Amino acid sequence: MQAEILSVGTELLLGDTIDTNASTISRALAEMGVSLTRRVTVGDNRERLLDALRSAASRADLILTTGGLGPTPDDLTKECIAEAFGDRLIEDPQAAETLREFFARRGIPFAQSNRKQALLFESGFGLPNPNGTAPGAVMEKERLIVICLPGPPREMIPMLENSVVPYLRRKLGQDAQVLRSRFLRLVGIGESSASELAGELQESENPTVAPVLRGMEPSFRITARASDAATAESMVAEMEARVRVRIGDYVYGTDDETLESVVIDELRRRQRTAGTAESCTGGLIGHRLTNIAGSSDVFLGGIVSYSNDVKESLLGVRAETLSLLGAVSVETAAEMAAGVRRSLGTSYGLSVTGIAGPGGGSAEKPVGLVFMAVADDRGTVTERHQFGGSRPDIKQRSSQAALNLLRKRILGKIE
Ligand code: ATP
Repeated sequence: MQAEILSVGTELLLGDTIDTNASTISRALAEMGVSLTRRVTVGDNRERLLDALRSAASRADLILTTGGLGPTPDDLTKECIAEAFGDRLIEDPQAAETLREFFARRGIPFAQSNRKQALLFESGFGLPNPNGTAPGAVMEKERLIVICLPGPPREMIPMLENSVVPYLRRKLGQDAQVLRSRFLRLVGIGESSASELAGELQESENPTVAPVLRGMEPSFRITARASDAATAESMVAEMEARVRVRIGDYVYGTDDETLESVVIDELRRRQRTAGTAESCTGGLIGHRLTNIAGSSDVFLGGIVSYSNDVKESLLGVRAETLSLLGAVSVETAAEMAAGVRRSLGTSYGLSVTGIAGPGGGSAEKPVGLVFMAVADDRGTVTERHQFGGSRPDIKQRSSQAALNLLRKRILGKIE
C-alpha cells in the first residue's frame, strides 16, 4: 500500500499553523509499515485541491487528507474528492442525528450550514468525532482509499488512533507490520564524525540507522520493521551491536536517558555523592542534575563561584593560583573541584571554569577555552576544551563535557 498525505488549509501555507497533523499521521503509517511517499499542502482552493487529489491518486492507493471538513464555504475537501473521483455526497441520517445532538447538548442553534458536515461518500462511510462536529469520512472506490480527517489536532488524533489505525490494520491484514526503534545517545563526538564512523551501516534499509540531533547532542536512531514485535526487536538489537562496535566508546545511554540521568543513576548504584563548583556555566550543571526527580540523595549541591572572591572564600582556591595562572586555568579548575568536594563533603567534586564570551578572550586564552576537573578520593583529573559557538552554546557544551568527565570518572574510564 502506497500512501500520500494531503494537508488542506490556507493557514498552513501562510505559516500561521504548523502542520503537526502530517507528522502525526506519518508516524502512525510508519508504525504500520505503510509506505508514505509524498506529503503535499494546498490552500482552501477548489482548483488546486482537485489537482492535488488527482495527482496523488495517479501514484498512491491511499490518500489521507486533513482539514477542510468544517461547515463554511471554504471547507471543500469532501466535495472536491467526490468530484475528482466520480463519487456522490449524500446526507447520512445517523451523522445528521449525531450532529443535531451535539448542538442540542451545548444549547447552540443548529445552522443549515452544519448539515454539510453530515454529508458522506456514497462509496464509503463515516468516522465518529466525539471531540467536534465534523465526522471523518472514508471513500473506497476501486483500488483507491481516501480518508478525510478534521484539521484540529484534538479531533484528528483520537480519530486517527481509534478509527483509522484499526481500519488500516484490517485492510493490511497479513501485510501489517510493526516498527521498533532505539536511540543510542552519544557524547564526546560531533554528529559528522559519528556519521563517518557509522559509515555504510547508515545505508542499510531495514533496520535503518540514522543520525538524529537532540538539541546539540548527536544520537543514532535504529529502526526495524517486521511482521511481529519480537522479530523487529531482535533486528534492532543485532544492528545496535554492529553500531556499538564502531562508536561504542561514545555511547553513554539509550532512548530517553540523558547524560544527567545516567550520572545520577551511576552515583546511586555506587552510593556515592557529587557536588559542583561552576564558574562559566553559572549553575547549568546543577540545573541539569536537579532536573532528575529525587536527585538530592546523590547530588548534594553546588557553588556558583563566578567571582574570584567566591572561588577563594568558599572553595579555597589559592590567591596565587588566581593571580599567577588566572581564574581560567587547569590549576584553578583542579582547586575548585577539590574545594567543593571538601566543602560539601561529597565523594566527587566537579568544576568548570572558562571563557563563555563574547568578550574576555585573548590570544592566549580565547573565547570558548574551558577547563574542568573532577576530584575524588583517588585524586583529581582535569580536561581542557576549546568550544565554538555562542555564549549559550559554550555553556551548554561545557556542561555536557563536564557531566561526561564525571561519568567517565565514576565508571573508572579515566585515571
Ligand atoms: P473545523 O470543523 O473545526 O472547521 P476543519 O476540518 O475544517 O475543522 P480546518 O478549518 O482546516 O479544519 O482547520 C481548523 C483548525 O485546525 C486550524 O485553524 C488549525 O488550528 C488546525 N489545523 C488544521 N490543519 C492542521 C494541521 N495540518 N496540523 C495542525 N493543525 C491543523
